[in-house]
Amino acid sequence: METAIKTHGLTVSYGVHLALWNVSTQIPAGQISGIIGPNGAGKSTLLKAILGMVPTLSGEIEVTGATEQEGKQDQCLASEIGYVPQRNCVDWDFPITVLDLVLMGTYGRLKWFQRPGEKERADARAALIEVQMQEFADRQIGQLSGGQQQRVFLARAFVQQPSIYLLDEPFSGVDATTEKIIMDILYGLRDKGKTVSLVHHDLTTVNSYFDHIILLNKQLVASGPTQSTYTSENIQATYGVNDMQIGDVSKDVIDV
Ligand code: ADP
Ligand code: MG
Repeated sequence: METAIKTHGLTVSYGVHLALWNVSTQIPAGQISGIIGPNGAGKSTLLKAILGMVPTLSGEIEVTGATEQEGKQDQCLASEIGYVPQRNCVDWDFPITVLDLVLMGTYGRLKWFQRPGEKERADARAALIEVQMQEFADRQIGQLSGGQQQRVFLARAFVQQPSIYLLDEPFSGVDATTEKIIMDILYGLRDKGKTVSLVHHDLTTVNSYFDHIILLNKQLVASGPTQSTYTSENIQATYGVNDMQIGDVSKDVIDV
């Protein structure tokens, strides 16, 4: 199995509250993987840590294929990974149109003094066509349904042309038809060799959606191919009670 992202001993806290503890896992390249666990399990934190959006307390994160191109060093991770944030982390009142939001996906490839031009606008429009949202280009993002909003963020990820897509609960607030549209887009990405990983909470679709799963509850419970990993024992271990505080962990293990 080729690996796109590897974490080793990843520990993240918000103040004294441990969100992730010693997580060593992998996201396989060219597959669709699901990150599964109860509310507060640290699923979003795992994605944010990979993206460098939250500081880590200890551990390593390795993104394979993250290239360092001229003038791009600072953004190298950001442009390698397309990210669709969890809906409740987005300010939907922010006065930005659908097209401008998608254009933000091109910023990583522009030089610091460049503004998006005709080429970028054409790419953004093409991405909107891919997610069937071209008619909404001039709408304010708050004036869209949940599924439409997800598709717009997916379009923003497309224009980045990343090799890895990380999506945080892309199906929350989305009807079944849209879920199917989004899933088909993700299958299409996998067919093109892209790596897709999503935080997911509907346990009934895990078996059909994912090649690989990561079961998380602050600590890693299990990860591996869905068929062998998605067992009732592992599900129970994942959804069991597990409320750790930093004080519960001995000081010599964790270097605060
Ligand atoms: P999940 O996505 O699995 O629901 P999160 O990664 O969002 O979990 O959160 C993990 C834990 O960290 C939760 O207990 C949450 O309340 C806490 N947490 C998340 N973000 C913050 C933050 N910015 N500040 C303080 N605590 C946070
Ligand atoms: Mg979350």
